[in-house]
Amino acid sequence: MTQLGKDIFAAGEKPMRIEEAAAWLAARAPATPDVETISIFEADGRILAHDLIAPLALPGFDNSAVDGYAIAYKDLAATCESVLPIGGRMAAGRSFDPVGGGDLSGKAVRIFTGAMIPPGMDTVFMQEDCRLTEDGRVILPPGLKPGDNRRMRGEDINVGALALAAGRRLAPEDIGLAAALGLDRLTVRRRLKAAIFSTGDELVCPARPRMEGALRAPDAYDANRFLLGALLRRQGLEVTDLGILPDDKAQIAAALHKAAKGHDLIVSSGGVSVGEEDHVKAAILEQGSLHFWRLAIKPGRPLAMGVIDGAPFVGLPGNPVAAFIGFVFVARALIAALSGARFNPPLAVPVISGFAYRKKAGRREFLRASLSRDASGELTAEKYAGQGAAVLTSLTRTRGFVDLAEDTVEIAPGDRVNFIDYDLIR
Ligand code: AMP
Ligand code: MG
Repeated sequence: MTQLGKDIFAAGEKPMRIEEAAAWLAARAPATPDVETISIFEADGRILAHDLIAPLALPGFDNSAVDGYAIAYKDLAATCESVLPIGGRMAAGRSFDPVGGGDLSGKAVRIFTGAMIPPGMDTVFMQEDCRLTEDGRVILPPGLKPGDNRRMRGEDINVGALALAAGRRLAPEDIGLAAALGLDRLTVRRRLKAAIFSTGDELVCPARPRMEGALRAPDAYDANRFLLGALLRRQGLEVTDLGILPDDKAQIAAALHKAAKGHDLIVSSGGVSVGEEDHVKAAILEQGSLHFWRLAIKPGRPLAMGVIDGAPFVGLPGNPVAAFIGFVFVARALIAALSGARFNPPLAVPVISGFAYRKKAGRREFLRASLSRDASGELTAEKYAGQGAAVLTSLTRTRGFVDLAEDTVEIAPGDRVNFIDYDLIR
């Protein structure tokens, strides 16, 4: 495991924009140097360790894009039909099957999709556009341009070109490209290991008894550990569940010390505010460092960024929606940096607002919203009624965030707003 310096997260206490926080992490958090070479079958979602340079051209030779007849354009009549004898047959994966003598000049070749275009020929007619004469010659209509229906050698990618850049999170289409280039193994970064825990005496594990409405703990099921555990796995991490740590400094300190040894990252939620019952802070400070990053966002309280015995620690807010937002915008940037991946800032698309809203200037707000098409076909965002940071259904019953910029103070129905689909950020 990489050992981090104690003060790597000392970014200062002044409010940060999300982009600043992400850029800050990308610049400073060290990527794991560990790599492994794996089968392309196992490579989906892994982080490519080195640039992949195309070892061959795709396609490897000029070939036909259709089933039909290949010809040399110069052999065609200028404005009327041409009638050419057939000099052979060319099917993909077969060798050329000549008809008559070897010379193909002034002749057409019956060709099939993917088959090599014979030397000297450059254009292919689709078979649907051609007719045959009774003596077996082919009648070709006018109207094609030279090179029509021909795929050129290297037009997809050329030898020596960059096929996939280091740091790319491999997607199925990347794996298809690697295979087309003849590679069956790829070198990727090691999968990172995260440990996760929740804090709070009010929390209880799902399915355990709880004391509903009682004036004593426990009275709430721990949602965040499972929410965040699933988010971490989607980022490709192996996750160790440390359970719920009691609001007790010594027990938290012991658990953190143990977790720091075998993990690349420790994630928690709750207990990082200034409330009296919050002991995570004291436990971490005993073994490392902790910095409270104030992000100019709503929902979201300060994020605690720390180092415990050399391992990075992210303390997310206790309210589930705030924890989700802290994860997708900041923890994900840290994970990308640690895993050697490029972090792509979330892509917001403009949609029409179906609602009116007022907000304070100076902070960015993420409203949970559903998306539908209005009568004119425009995509329209509808704000979910419950926007509290604790309202989990605001995430499950919506499709994404309406992302309102710092300087926005008022939205009216019909205004354009930015929308970020959850699928793009988790
Ligand atoms: P805290 O940040 O510890 O002050 O918690 C803020 C709010 O989030 C409180 O209502 C907590 O009960 C709630 N909360 C904290 N941790 C969790 C969790 N793991 N799952 C669900 N809710 C939580
Ligand atoms: Mg708490």
